[in-house]
Amino acid sequence: VERDDDTHYFHSYEENDIHEIMLKDTVRTVSYARFILSNPNVFKNAVVMDVGCGTGILSMLAAKAGAKHVYAIEASRLAVKARENINKNGFSDKITVIQGKVEDIELPVKTVDVIVSEWMGYMLLYESMLDSVLVARDRFLAPSGLMAPSQTRLVLSAITGDRVWKERVAFWPSVYGFDLSVMQGPCFGEGLTEVVDKEEVVTTEAIVRDINSHSATIKSLDFHSAFTLEANSNSNSSGPTTIRAFLTHFDTFFSPHSGAEKSHVPPSEDVEILPFGDDEYERPVQPLEQSNDNGVQVSFTTGPRGKYTHWKQVVFLLREPITLQNNGDKIQGRFFCRKSEDNSRELDVEIHFRVVAASSSDSESGTRGETY
Ligand code: SAH
Repeated sequence: VERDDDTHYFHSYEENDIHEIMLKDTVRTVSYARFILSNPNVFKNAVVMDVGCGTGILSMLAAKAGAKHVYAIEASRLAVKARENINKNGFSDKITVIQGKVEDIELPVKTVDVIVSEWMGYMLLYESMLDSVLVARDRFLAPSGLMAPSQTRLVLSAITGDRVWKERVAFWPSVYGFDLSVMQGPCFGEGLTEVVDKEEVVTTEAIVRDINSHSATIKSLDFHSAFTLEANSNSNSSGPTTIRAFLTHFDTFFSPHSGAEKSHVPPSEDVEILPFGDDEYERPVQPLEQSNDNGVQVSFTTGPRGKYTHWKQVVFLLREPITLQNNGDKIQGRFFCRKSEDNSRELDVEIHFRVVAASSSDSESGTRGETY
């Protein structure tokens, strides 16, 4: 029997709740709206594809921005609702809803000028919807076409983890007078979706994956990369800092310029899992280059310094805390992420690390690893 990672996944998008949550996430939806409505150079008279249109919101924004035509692709039965929404708002001549997986559908046109999609999951890559968007790009995007968003970054830091520890771990040993500490187990084996206070972030941040929507390959979404985290000003400057967890968030960038001539990659037949042991995805920590052309860039963060988003952050609790004894101590390691073998919509994460002391005599010996 062929394994089916899709049925349950698409069913989950047939409920109203998830769409309500996404639409009410103003950081998310307003960022898309700002980008679409502020860049007539991109959208006016363009043929647009909306990969995973849900309620149809991004398609209607594109139509409002003057798109020549929008193809709204939706695999779940929400496509029916999208069509009704689009009719009700007077866009039925401008937007064609096609129910099906973007991998399977056919279009009445050969290419599109713009692909817009809200594909980001928890920890950016959970759900693996980006794979589908990359297939859409390789099937339908014109050579000079634009991807929106154009770039996303997965960012790692380390936190005290005090609140999550208290609520999710320290809770169990004394519950109505009973020791339920066997229940602590799952807190450690998986990433926890939580809102973390920015004061808890006690290190610098490291970009562990920088994804260019125009050039990324499916294969490159299984990756590992080296990181270094240094104590920041939130850490205890006069004594040791205790770290109980790693944290991930992601940042999303929309640029009106594709630079596609040089970066667009032709379809790849090679979609096998990248074996660990390859090192091509390390990137320096730096902001995006500012473009001086006209056109509006938009970006948003799902990190603890930003406004709340429905993605929150993802906390990876450590079984044993890390102690940074002195200013200048660093955590060095490698972050591994790949699709789970059991379900391609899930991720296996491993974090390998060691503490490198500023005065290297008291460096923690050996590398520790945690699997999630
Ligand atoms: N664009 C909407 C919904 C985003 S949620 C909004 O911004 O509010 C992502 C949507 O993509 C879901 O409705 C899901 O069913 C759909 N989807 C995911 N993978 C898809 C695929 N391969 N083909 C078509 N639709 C897909």
